[in-house]
Amino acid sequence: MAKDSQFVSQIADIESDFPQWYSDVVLKTGLVDYGPVKGTMVIRPYGYAIWENIQKELDRRFKETGHENAYFPLLIPMSFMTKESEHVEGFAPEVAVVTHAGGEKLAEPLCIRPTSETIIGTMYAKWIQSYRDLPVLMNQWANVMRWEKTTRPFLRTSEFLWQEGHTVHATEEEAMEETMKMLGVYEEFARTCLAMPVLTGRKTEKEKFAGAVATYGMEAMMHDGKSLQAGTSHYLGQNFSKAFDIKFLDKDGVQKYAYTTSWGVSTRLIGAIIMTHGDQRGLVLPPVVAPVQAVIVPIAVKKPGVAEACAELKTRLEQAGVRVVLDDSDNSPGWKFNEWEMKGVPVRIELGPRDLEAGKMLCARRDNHEKTEIALAQAEEGVKQLLADIQKNMYERAKERMDTRIIQAGTLDELLAGVNGGNFVRAGWCGCRECEDKVKEFAQATARVYAKEQTAEKCAVCGKPAAHTVIFARAY
Ligand code: ZN
Repeated sequence: MAKDSQFVSQIADIESDFPQWYSDVVLKTGLVDYGPVKGTMVIRPYGYAIWENIQKELDRRFKETGHENAYFPLLIPMSFMTKESEHVEGFAPEVAVVTHAGGEKLAEPLCIRPTSETIIGTMYAKWIQSYRDLPVLMNQWANVMRWEKTTRPFLRTSEFLWQEGHTVHATEEEAMEETMKMLGVYEEFARTCLAMPVLTGRKTEKEKFAGAVATYGMEAMMHDGKSLQAGTSHYLGQNFSKAFDIKFLDKDGVQKYAYTTSWGVSTRLIGAIIMTHGDQRGLVLPPVVAPVQAVIVPIAVKKPGVAEACAELKTRLEQAGVRVVLDDSDNSPGWKFNEWEMKGVPVRIELGPRDLEAGKMLCARRDNHEKTEIALAQAEEGVKQLLADIQKNMYERAKERMDTRIIQAGTLDELLAGVNGGNFVRAGWCGCRECEDKVKEFAQATARVYAKEQTAEKCAVCGKPAAHTVIFARAY
């Protein structure tokens, strides 16, 4: 126990100093390290393995919904960025520009992509001629760069990894359908793979993507009650098709501008997993995306048969498709328990001479610290069932927490008290920018999404009739 408390004390208190807790956890578990250039991160193998599992799950869903992967260049001519006025204005402060290459000043500066609508739009204009070329459904997995003043690993870094879907459609209806379909794909992925409940809905004009007609987002509640925008899907209307001349000859023989969408999620999702599920002991990873789903810790490993039994169990679990590690290092079992607990491994299996004699193994769950015995003969099914139970329990726990922490406010004071208490706040809003700005100024909260149930009658700020019911929160 002494070792245990010493170990836990290395992580800052999750309740009183959540930002420090976060930094401690991402560094000490080997997910990430700071890069030499301020604001950059190195994603270490344990962190990258989570990203690979996220990619695998999402990529399958994108392909099942008819999308293909492609890759577009990192460098974008500056002139492309200025074609869509709202877009350039929104991204100008964050864009990194290459002015010199090959020892010379470039004739035209090049942007490092902060997002790829402009370059992809330019190529689409070239490729699309007729209605027969539509829809175009593409996705790219890439890195992007947005120069940020304050940064935090996974949550906000100047360079990050993401996917960006870019689609082109003949009609407004089809493009809107795509926008909502992909928002739905993200929601289902967050729920079933990350065990993360989210609120989805439209964003306000102030919060939308620069250049979009409408942005839909998914927002997740973090441990401290703040919101994290975990993904967005944009209906771009004809804004980009007009700026980049994406036209097609329709069935009726008329040249028309197409309708486009874009949608993306990033390595930010790893931050979301950490801050949704983590506890005082460190990470708690959802089994579906956990790099290691089960760790075997031998007990009294020098006793006859133990090492062999552990190795055999590892092989059996591997063959059953479980991502399993056998920790046969010479650290003490107690040290190993702490280490793998901090790393958020869903199931720890203890196997010693007494277990072998009884034909069972002891399994400790990371999510609720419960211990169960599973017969060695049923190891495969037993561990898989346990992983499924953990995944389900983690979602239900997070869902219940979010549901109980969405409260109503009728006034600005109530709204402030709500976000101070670590809640999401449902409130009416008249729709004017002044009232939205006042919420930010008074409560440091922003409009996250329009609520599913539009029931508010009055604006919580000015008291005028409400145009929308909005979920307000402090956000990352
Ligand atoms: Zn108002």
